[in-house]
Order: sequence, then structure tokens, then C-alpha cells
Amino acid sequence: MMYFLIVLTLGALALYVFERRKRKKIEREFSSYLSLPISALYGVADVRKIKGSFFFARHFLKTVQEVVEIVHGVLKPGTAAFYLKEKDGFRLRGSVSQVKLKEVLSPGGPLDWVRKERKTLVVDEFYEDVFSLGYYEEKGKVRSLCAVPVLIGDELAGILVVDSPEAFYFSQREKEKLEAFSGFLATLISLYRHIDAYMIEAFQFRLLQELAKEVGGEIEFPDVIEKLELTAHELFPGSSVFIFILRNGFIEVFGDEQMRVEESPCFATIALEHGIPVRDNNVKRESEIFPGIVASGVSLLFAPFPVKNGGIIVLSRREFGEKDLTILSFLSEIAGTAIEKSFLYEKEKERAIRDGLTGLFNHRYFQEYLEKLVRKGEEFSLIMIDIDHFKRINDTYGHQAGDEVLKEISKVIKGCVRKTDVVARYGGEEIACVLAGASLKDAVRVAEVIRARVEEHPFEWGGGRIKVTVSLGVSHFPGAGMGREEVIKKADTALYRAKEEGRNRVRY
Ligand code: GH3
Ligand code: MG
Ligand code: MG
Repeated sequence: MMYFLIVLTLGALALYVFERRKRKKIEREFSSYLSLPISALYGVADVRKIKGSFFFARHFLKTVQEVVEIVHGVLKPGTAAFYLKEKDGFRLRGSVSQVKLKEVLSPGGPLDWVRKERKTLVVDEFYEDVFSLGYYEEKGKVRSLCAVPVLIGDELAGILVVDSPEAFYFSQREKEKLEAFSGFLATLISLYRHIDAYMIEAFQFRLLQELAKEVGGEIEFPDVIEKLELTAHELFPGSSVFIFILRNGFIEVFGDEQMRVEESPCFATIALEHGIPVRDNNVKRESEIFPGIVASGVSLLFAPFPVKNGGIIVLSRREFGEKDLTILSFLSEIAGTAIEKSFLYEKEKERAIRDGLTGLFNHRYFQEYLEKLVRKGEEFSLIMIDIDHFKRINDTYGHQAGDEVLKEISKVIKGCVRKTDVVARYGGEEIACVLAGASLKDAVRVAEVIRARVEEHPFEWGGGRIKVTVSLGVSHFPGAGMGREEVIKKADTALYRAKEEGRNRVRY
């Protein structure tokens, strides 16, 4: 015995040390999140993913094409082409040419020098294969060319290139003109980026506004979660979204992962403790976001609910900007408030269908539920229960004792039926059980269990025990010419017979 106790104590100690270590480790990680500078540039989001930007993106590309046409009109070269630097390489976004050009610029050739040096290149005598230039898909004639980098600050945003079938076609003046056009394109691109960023922002705020409107009224919890998820995915395309709530010692996670786990130190709980938003574009080590969910090599955003009982975590392969965090904080604010409200709404709804004393369903709910089953024509059984000589209990021990017996009996009855069965307080000391799908035989068996359990149950009051029994009447639906009232009547009649024949028994 002694030996066993020692082993147990050691085990508990080891567990404690382990948990403490784990917590310390996560806290250390967390403090490194907090020291991160929040200053990264808000890059241009992928225009194809943001609905609001479609319109403007088209205009932008049209304008770029027009500029290239003007370049061609002014310089009169053979080919004029503009390649815009995009995620997947330099893409042809404007051109005037007799032959087909490549959609994406191939590496190699003289344009690589422009890419690397970011300087204007003029080739007066070009005798190599035209395909080595990297932008010809079909054969064309090129004897000279001029390529200019399009620079926004130090950033290479694209390459503007013109060529000619004649050698020595591009003089110093032509080169300067092309550089001027390149500057114009740079302005156009950076203007586009700004407008695009603002449009994305406007679009995001519109989404938030719509969400706030949608969850503003009376709304149930699952609907709040569904709408939140939807909006979060629209705000952060391609990311994973987790909405979580800390309730009664559990972490409930919704969104891309659904689970309910015991509260323990992890990123979510520690972040909540600190209560401030987090942005980390480099979750390097394996970080436990929720118990059992580990992430590494991703970007992370976190914003707590205003009441600090949960929050939203977004994980992505792309970097998050400061504005992303602002957006998420707004989303969390709307979410937290909506969730709180949905809890209150649910409680209120629950109160409306429950009996205050026993916590059972109330009479109205019982009638509505029965009506629903009858209308659908679904089989069910009804057990009507009446406490025997309840008046005597009241008279002997007092009304308060009677109330306690009622509460206790409600618990006993609930313990005899399935979770899905509806147990309602029908009247003063009458309780009704609706067993959906149950045959008469099954219901009678259940009624007998209830009768026996009540009889055996020790109802304690004032240091003594009150002997309590119940009488039960059972009826079954469907039956010939039977409606809601007939089912109740039949159970009632059976119950009356149980009383007549001596109480503490089941009749049907
Ligand atoms: P039996 O059903 O066996 O025929 O006898 P009974 O004494 O139970 O029947 P009766 O219908 O005459 O009395 C029911 C009593 O239940 C009357 C009422 O004071 C009491 N009662 C009804 N609702 C409550 C309640 O919420 N709390 C308490 N303490 N008593 C209640
Ligand atoms: Mg009674
Ligand atoms: Mg009664």
C-alpha cells in the first residue's frame, strides 16, 4: 500500500513538472510573438481572388495596353511589348507585334541583363536567333532592340522592350523616350497598387458591415458560426480559419477544424490570457495552436473577442500585413458580440419552453411537440404520470417539501428515458413523457421502470424519508381516429384506472 502511494505521488509530480515545462515553453514562444515588429508592408493581394477589384484590374490592364500602343506609335519599332512582374514570372500585359509573343518571359538572353542590372539596354546589331530573346513565340526579324526596366523605387515591376528589323534603329533620343514611358508605366502600376489596396480594404469593410448586419438580430449560435466562417474565408482567401470559445474548462473549436478539448496550455489559451492581437509571419517551431493541432512554417493572426472568452485564429502560407490584423480585430469584435448575444438568445428561448421549478419542458411545449408528431403521423407513446396522494405530502411536510419531491421525481423520470424523449410538466403534479418511435409494449416497460424507481427512491426531508409512489397511464399513436387530444385522453383514462385500482401501478 505504502509502495503504491509513493509510486502514485511520483507519477503526479512528474506529470506536474511536465505540464509546467510545456507551459513555460509555450509562454516563451508567445513572448517572441509579442516582440515582433508590426510594420510589414501591405502587399497587393491577388486581384483574381477579390471580387471588388475585378473591375479596376480590367481597366488597369486596358490602360497598360494603350500605353504600349502609344509607345509603338511614337517609336514605330517592329515589336513593342511590356512584361509585368507577377507571382508566376514576367507576364505579357501589353503588346504590338506582327507575330505571336510569349505570355511569360523566358529566362536567358539579353533581357536577363536588364533584369539583373535594372538598367536600359540597347543592342544596335543583333545577329543571334530571335528565340534567344525570350519573348518571341513565333519567328520574327530583329536586328536591333532597346529594353528598359520599369522601376518603382528599387523594385523591378516590369520590362518594356522594343525591337526593329533594322540595325542601329534606336538612337539616344529613342532610348530617352522609352525611359520616359517606363517611368509613366511605373507611376501607373504604383497608382494601381494603391487603388487596389484601398479597394480591397473597402471590400473587406463592406463584408464586415454586411456580417454585422446579418448577426445583429436574433440569431442562433450555429448560424453565427456559419456566417463568421464564410466572412472570414472571404476576408482571408486561401487561409485556415479557427473560431474558438473557452467554456466550462473546455476549448470548443469551430471552422476548418471542429473539436472540443479540455482546456490546457497551448497557443490559444495563452494568447487569450494576454488578451491582445498577435501577428506572426514566421511560425517557425512547431507551435501547438490548440491541444493536438500543431502548425509550423505558416503565418498566423489572432484576435480575441471583446469579452475574452475566445477568439479567431487565421493561418496562411502567405504573409499577413498590419491591415490584416486590423481587419481580423474588427471581425473578432463583431463575432464576440454576436456569439454572446446568441447565447443569451438561446437561454431566453430555453426559458420560454421550460418549467421554472422542475426544469422539464412546459405544458405549451409538450402540446406543440405532440401536435408536430401527430401531424407528421409519426409513431410515439405517451406516459402520463401522477404522484399518489401528493396532497398528503404537502399537508404533512409542507409545500416546500412537496416542491422538492417534484424536482427529485423529475430527475428520477429523466433517468429512466432516453435523452431524446420529451419529459414535460403537464400540470401541478402530473408529468408527461413522450417517447418518439416507441411501441406501446416498450412504453409500458419504461413506465414500469419509472414506477419502480420512484418507489425505491429515497426522498429525504428534514432528516427523514418521504415515501412517494406514482400512478401511470400509457397510450400509443397512431390509432384509428386518433388525434392529439385522443392520445392524451387515452393516457389520462388509463391513469385514472391505475388510481382506481389502488395506485402505484401502470395501466394502458
Ligand atoms: P391522487 O393523485 O393520488 O389521487 O391524490 P393527490 O393528492 O395527488 O391528488 P390531488 O389532485 O387532489 O392533489 C394534487 C395536489 O398537488 C394539490 C396541489 O396542492 C398539489 N400541487 C400541485 N402543484 C404543486 C406544486 O407545484 N408544488 C406543491 N408543493 N404542490 C403542488
Ligand atoms: Mg396526484
Ligand atoms: Mg393530479
